[in-house]
Amino acid sequence: MSKLLVIGCGGVAQVAIQKCAQNSKVFTEMCLASRTVSKCDALKEKLEKQGTPVKITTATVNADDVNDLVKLIKEYQPDAVLNVALPYQDLTIMDACLECKVDYIDTANYEPEDTDEPVWRAAYEKRCKEKGFTAYFDYSYQWAYMDKFKDAGITGLLGTGFDPGVTSVFTAYAKKHYFDEIETVDILDCNGGDHGYAFATNFNPEINLREVSANGSYWENGHWVETKPMEIKREYNFPEVGQKDMYLLHHEEIEALGRNFPEIKRIRFFMTFGQSYLDHMRCLEDVGMLSTTPIKFEGKDIVPIQFLKALLPDPASLGPRTVGKTNIGCIIRGKKDGKDKVIYIYNVCDHQECYKELGSQAISYTTGVPAMIGTALVLEGKWKKPGVYTTDEFDPDPYMDMLNEYGLPWVVDENPVEVE
Ligand code: NDP
Repeated sequence: MSKLLVIGCGGVAQVAIQKCAQNSKVFTEMCLASRTVSKCDALKEKLEKQGTPVKITTATVNADDVNDLVKLIKEYQPDAVLNVALPYQDLTIMDACLECKVDYIDTANYEPEDTDEPVWRAAYEKRCKEKGFTAYFDYSYQWAYMDKFKDAGITGLLGTGFDPGVTSVFTAYAKKHYFDEIETVDILDCNGGDHGYAFATNFNPEINLREVSANGSYWENGHWVETKPMEIKREYNFPEVGQKDMYLLHHEEIEALGRNFPEIKRIRFFMTFGQSYLDHMRCLEDVGMLSTTPIKFEGKDIVPIQFLKALLPDPASLGPRTVGKTNIGCIIRGKKDGKDKVIYIYNVCDHQECYKELGSQAISYTTGVPAMIGTALVLEGKWKKPGVYTTDEFDPDPYMDMLNEYGLPWVVDENPVEVE
């Protein structure tokens, strides 16, 4: 029996909320709160028409404002807050949870909306030099809450989407059941789906394009190796999807796995992209449309990437038109009983099956299901531990069981083809 406050009602949130409703033994009451409350009202109506036993209310909240969040948390008195808004709101929501002593869960690590803000910029440039990677997001801001969350006796579960989230659980599961020592991890994220548009992103366009257009990097022998965007390309024949080009990206779970599994010598992350996506992205970047710096247009300040977001299809609307499958997983090499061993743990998810079940495409589905699972495990006490942690820091077994139960079954291949 628990009360959950969900913040955000976009593509990922809509899956997470519907999955919570399927797990009504744990989630007995939910408040759906977001900037545009009409989306929350529409989802509440959909679930109620389906006869959900969960008691659902809705609210408007500005998640950039700690006071507004604190007011809502005090009124609603939830047992946990699930942040499925944007990474920009991670710290305000964590601050509000701290003040109200409520557990906190999210799916993506903090990055600032305004990367030109001078105080943040100075800290960022120092971090680039010290750590050797230039992504706008990193865990330092949220890991800094460790002692404050411990003192308050509350749990912060960071990054329980698919990647990060499930990929880190796959690594912890491999370590627990298959290896004495892990040497390398390659995380492969393949979207073999086709939505029929020349260009669209599968989750929030601003966050997605920032991530994909940035430098790549990987972890090797205790330090970061940075690459130019899309500099490292490989081909891979993905089970149930087929042959795809994939590119090395910086990705947030590499930072947490590198810290939490110091034995791992190399961690890389690859994502597949089609040529049309890459050509459009390069062109938009060349003309300045991916910039986060405001420009004056007819007397008004506009942020180019936010204007672009307004032009692109809403990722939540891609469900009916997307066909094909995703395949996301980890190829893990290491030693067991002194012998070399390689396994590939992955999930295959079908866009149209997700649409039939929940009205969403597979990217929102593969993120929203693990958001529900992580939240359920915190609320049930199985993953409750004061402090802030990523998903690789808990027992992976109950999470792996719930992936099978809630629509993301996984496979372990003990004889996979490795990535060069
Ligand atoms: P969307 O843009 O579809 O949804 C974001 C939601 O947050 C919208 O409902 C939006 O409101 C709301 N929101 C934004 N700002 C505020 C605010 N200041 N106050 C209140 N509500 C706000 O994003 P997605 O669903 O695609 O992504 C959600 C999260 O999931 C992101 O953090 C993303 O990085 C993460 N993600 C994680 C993945 C993983 O595997 N770990 C993969 C994909 C995404 P409005 O409706 O008014 O715009």
